[in-house]
Amino acid sequence: MKKILCAVLAVASMWSSAWATEKSFSSPDGKLTVVVNDQGGAPTYRVTLGETEFLGKSPLGLRTNIGDFTQDLTMTDCEVKEVSQNYDLRNIKQRHVDYRATEAVCSFEQKGRKVMEVVFRVSNRDVAYRYTIMPTRSALVAVVDGEASGFQLPEGTTTFLCPQSTPMGGFARTSPSYETSYTLDDQMGKNGWGQGFSFPCLFKVGEKGWVLISETGVDGDYVASRLLNEKDGLYRIGFPQAGECNGWGSTSAQVALPCQTPWRTITVGTTLANIVETTVPFDLVDQKYEASQDYVYGKGSWSWIIGMDNSCNFDEQKRYIDFSAAMGYQSVLIDALWDKQIGKEKIAELAAYGKTKGVGLYLWYNSNGKWNDAPQSPIGKMDKSRERRAEMAWMKSVGIKGIKVDFFGGDKQNMMQLYEDILSDANDFGILCIFHGCTLPRGWERMYPNYASSEAVLASENLHFGQGACDAEARNATIHIFVRNTVGSMDFGGSTLNKFYNANNQSGTRRVTSDVYALATAVLFQSAVQHFALAPNNLTDAPAWAIDFMKEVPTTWDEVKFIDGYPGKYAIVARRTGSKWYVVGINAEKQPLKVNVPLDMFEKGAPLKMYSDDAQLNGSVKEIKQKKQITVTIPMNGGLVINN
Ligand code: CA
Repeated sequence: MKKILCAVLAVASMWSSAWATEKSFSSPDGKLTVVVNDQGGAPTYRVTLGETEFLGKSPLGLRTNIGDFTQDLTMTDCEVKEVSQNYDLRNIKQRHVDYRATEAVCSFEQKGRKVMEVVFRVSNRDVAYRYTIMPTRSALVAVVDGEASGFQLPEGTTTFLCPQSTPMGGFARTSPSYETSYTLDDQMGKNGWGQGFSFPCLFKVGEKGWVLISETGVDGDYVASRLLNEKDGLYRIGFPQAGECNGWGSTSAQVALPCQTPWRTITVGTTLANIVETTVPFDLVDQKYEASQDYVYGKGSWSWIIGMDNSCNFDEQKRYIDFSAAMGYQSVLIDALWDKQIGKEKIAELAAYGKTKGVGLYLWYNSNGKWNDAPQSPIGKMDKSRERRAEMAWMKSVGIKGIKVDFFGGDKQNMMQLYEDILSDANDFGILCIFHGCTLPRGWERMYPNYASSEAVLASENLHFGQGACDAEARNATIHIFVRNTVGSMDFGGSTLNKFYNANNQSGTRRVTSDVYALATAVLFQSAVQHFALAPNNLTDAPAWAIDFMKEVPTTWDEVKFIDGYPGKYAIVARRTGSKWYVVGINAEKQPLKVNVPLDMFEKGAPLKMYSDDAQLNGSVKEIKQKKQITVTIPMNGGLVINN
């Protein structure tokens, strides 16, 4: 084990007579270094990887109603130690994690009283920090009005960001719900649509590498935040907007002292490998309650993506149960309006029928409440404990497997508490939870054992709603592995094999991506529970090799490896489950992508299957010999899958 360098320097400032204390500490491999400084009473940190500075002097501190902890601060101490932890999670990109990091607890005094600690964790690919706010003699609670927490990106950095929406906008005044378009390769110094950006936020530091900024460990004890651009390369943590949640709830965080805030995370790499492979959202959080049972994830179908509201009827859902059974899938998701168009009695009948076929049901719910105009029912069942628990008791009595709760009210602390309350109540009744129209999950796979997945992305519904989304499908899909999906499970609802988003498969928006692309995204998009946009007719009108693949594709993984890619252009990764590897790729660029793909992860000798497209996007599968690497060509909107 390498010795940790903890330099404690007192350096005279050129600009003030005050002395500053500076401390530095590095990752276990010694390459990623943080330097903390309290010059001028306003603490800062810097981040370097090797010789390259990835974050310049970036502000630290909090503004609270028991004191302004952004100024007049002195760093009195910085205790450094190594931390290590092993854990297993079945529902993230990597099943077993050996986490090793350097921890530094830096204490800050103001007027002779210790007011806060900044706790840093530096692993080989991530820097993270959070604050501990100390109680005073009289104050055991406080209001945190905002954070100074900043991220100073170097000049010349380009951005890969999606804007945070203004509150009470969009469909039925449901924004913000993390469903905006990314702007890629953009200059710094912009602030989205004026409200900053949704996490996670990706930056390219010239030709030197990449930085992904996000947060984790957010629950009912704090607000979820966004990233605001202050000026040029300086970005800061932004708290929720007053109008969110129909104006209900504070934009501040109300905390009990001592309080530990959520973690600010900074993943750094010379390539995109660290960005794709990081487990930092899960490394830093703890499980909040025991699982009431061994939850079974897996695959399912849902009629709504092809058939929309009218398909939420008894006969069609029965047909989809048969379809899921034919695919060997574990579930059917019944979307909105089932309470009116099917009714609880008939749902119980469907659940019983599904049980005979090994297919469980997920039921859709509106989260409202009183935070937006979304009219879909069932409504008024998830916002208050009494109704929620009564509904869940009914679900348990008829054997419902999970819920999909939609149309949340933003990022204020009251909404974070609602997510937590739905999850913990659902666990009491053995129910898995999917969230839509929602915020980004922030470490929830580990914190809440019955958490399944979240939308928080421009998901497959947009492919049904507009041809523009279909035409840009591959471009958008190449972004998620590097941004949204790398920090949390993503419920995209994709892998369509229909040619058209319509039950007749002849009209409506037209899919421009290939069948191999559909297979590749089933692996590329990570979520332990997947409801694919397949339809019963695909059993006969889709290629047999595509159906066979979709029957056996896993939804839980042991490992992920970045191979190649660039957000908005193309993505090639490999995922492993047991001894099986799946190398997948997609291409969004006009010119065919010719690329060398390493195959050395596969066990030697065994033949491999390769699914690929010709120039007209006609897919096929063939056996290929084991070799060190293979040169492949992926046409625009096409895909690649190689597995053993
Ligand atoms: Ca949505």
